[in-house]
Amino acid sequence: MIIRKVARMGHPVLREKARELSLEEIKSSKTLDLVRDMIVGMDEYGGIGIAAPQVHEPIQLAIMILDDWKGKVKLVEGHPSVAVFINPSIKILDKKCIGSWEGCLSLPGMRGYVERPKKIRVSFQDLQGNKHTEIASGHNAIVIQHELDHLEGTLYIDKIFDKSMIAFNDEYDRFHRKRNEDDNHDE
Ligand code: ZN
Repeated sequence: MIIRKVARMGHPVLREKARELSLEEIKSSKTLDLVRDMIVGMDEYGGIGIAAPQVHEPIQLAIMILDDWKGKVKLVEGHPSVAVFINPSIKILDKKCIGSWEGCLSLPGMRGYVERPKKIRVSFQDLQGNKHTEIASGHNAIVIQHELDHLEGTLYIDKIFDKSMIAFNDEYDRFHRKRNEDDNHDE
């Protein structure tokens, strides 16, 4: 395993639409190696999710640490189990939005307040190429939407309605963080 460098905002790879993976590619050792590298890298950088374009691979693949998610896989000893999404698509089930302060490994040191639909249905393939459809709401729905946006070339900063709600982490802690609020992580 290697720690792959994370592309930061401004790198064109973050603005490309990622291409789909064929079944042969999904099942290849190259894809499994990439996922393992992404797990180690996500952990190293302190994230809870990472998409392949963030490690300079413009393909439809993202991994996340999700709560209560069936099908999570443990691929690297000593690192968290992750949900793997390949060739995913999202349908919004509840347009009502929930807002949260999001961070991103590609925009280090800052975060912003983003509102997203609170309930979605996501279809995707796993590392064996099997197709799944799952419902996600709340925090899981936010993390999935953030990561899958990367596959469209979209960053969370594009979705911030109120630009005064973008902050460096120190200022976020000083002026925006609510008491008792859960730790925020980068995605
Ligand atoms: Zn991100």
